[in-house]
Amino acid sequence: MFSSLDIATIYVCLFLSLLVAAATMATVWRSNGHEPAAGYWTLAYGFGLVGAALLAMQEVLGPFVPALSTAVIFAANIGMISGFRAFNGQKTPGWLFMLVPGLYLIAAELLPWIYDDPNRNAMVQSFIVMIVAFTNAHAVIRGEGNRELPMALPASIILTIHGIVRGSVVYYTLINPAPVIDSRMEAGWWKLFLLEIFFNTTMMAISTIILIKDRAEQRHRIASETDVLTGIANRRAFVNKINKVLGEAEPEAVLAILDLDHFKQVNDTYGHDAGDQVLIDFAKIAKLHLPTSALFGRMGGEEFAIYLSGKGYDHKAILDRVRRKIAYTPFDYKGLPINFTISIGFASVATAGKSFDHLFAAADCAMYLAKKEGRNRVLAYKPSMRLREVLADDFKGYGDFTESSMALKVF
Ligand code: GH3
Ligand code: MG
Ligand code: MG
Repeated sequence: MFSSLDIATIYVCLFLSLLVAAATMATVWRSNGHEPAAGYWTLAYGFGLVGAALLAMQEVLGPFVPALSTAVIFAANIGMISGFRAFNGQKTPGWLFMLVPGLYLIAAELLPWIYDDPNRNAMVQSFIVMIVAFTNAHAVIRGEGNRELPMALPASIILTIHGIVRGSVVYYTLINPAPVIDSRMEAGWWKLFLLEIFFNTTMMAISTIILIKDRAEQRHRIASETDVLTGIANRRAFVNKINKVLGEAEPEAVLAILDLDHFKQVNDTYGHDAGDQVLIDFAKIAKLHLPTSALFGRMGGEEFAIYLSGKGYDHKAILDRVRRKIAYTPFDYKGLPINFTISIGFASVATAGKSFDHLFAAADCAMYLAKKEGRNRVLAYKPSMRLREVLADDFKGYGDFTESSMALKVF
């Protein structure tokens, strides 16, 4: 069945599919803010269609076509690799586009046996394409954050299958070379492999376009969950995350509220920009001194929250370490040392339950009292605190609130 297929026709189909792929990817590149990966893939499909055009017109163009088309196909493969690298945030030197095809052409000139027989040419080409396919299959699944992209695994599988198929071309050309008629390999198995290239090209075009779309969606989601100033989770993302883990929370898990002390003074004394820098530095230092399992978010303004779940940790000691680090670190803003402190209130699941609102209110209450008791301290929530908080408000105007002064006035 495959023997009756016309090779030139397969190349024309390949050319047309690559034309659609290159044009679509160019549009994707433009509409995605000149996303580098889409740019490289456009280039790759562009080189691919030139290669296919050369092969389709081999009879007209002459005997130099196999070597030249192979060089162009190598450039297309550098484009594919560069695209996957760019997709993972890595750069690829542009001179590789010249070097690799150039080296091949020199080798073909010096070692005519490479392209004198189309079987050997196909073998060399397939071997390189196989390596490229496996490299790309690995890159698409290993890149940071790629596993959560719906298209990453299917793309990796498609590339792996392509690598295996190209590997079998190497095997076939060695073991069972195709008869050569008019400089073309005329064998059913070879036509089947050409059809696989056509199929794979179409699949890769669709996959790479979906990958760009997946990445754009991922970026939007991350942006919508991230606090623009500090880069940590914003309130909405933090609350969502906590609500997901609270169901399984151990009684020892705690939610802490951290509030910068007298932050208004920082703004008033050094300016709003200095205040912003202090918030950024604070988030950085706090994160550095928290266990990796901790969840950390900005609740708004100069108020932050931390969720500590790990069993066997001394949560108060962790929070106190953060407090001390902040209190003893002189922050630098354009050469000006700025010192500040934080007050922390925290509540455990054991005392406030598994509802986020209850935990938050309890931690906030403890934080409020930490402020009242002189700031720069860590206070654990106790159910008795609610009464104290209310009483403290009732006794506003009676001077500074302390537990003993309140006791005197109540009783
Ligand atoms: P306290 O110790 O009682 O918490 O006093 P405070 O001055 O920190 O509290 P207050 O609530 O009076 O002031 C908070 C200030 O935080 C007021 C607001 O201008 C400032 N602020 C809130 N968000 C930002 C921000 O994103 N950047 C800057 N620079 N300042 C902010
Ligand atoms: Mg404050
Ligand atoms: Mg505040």
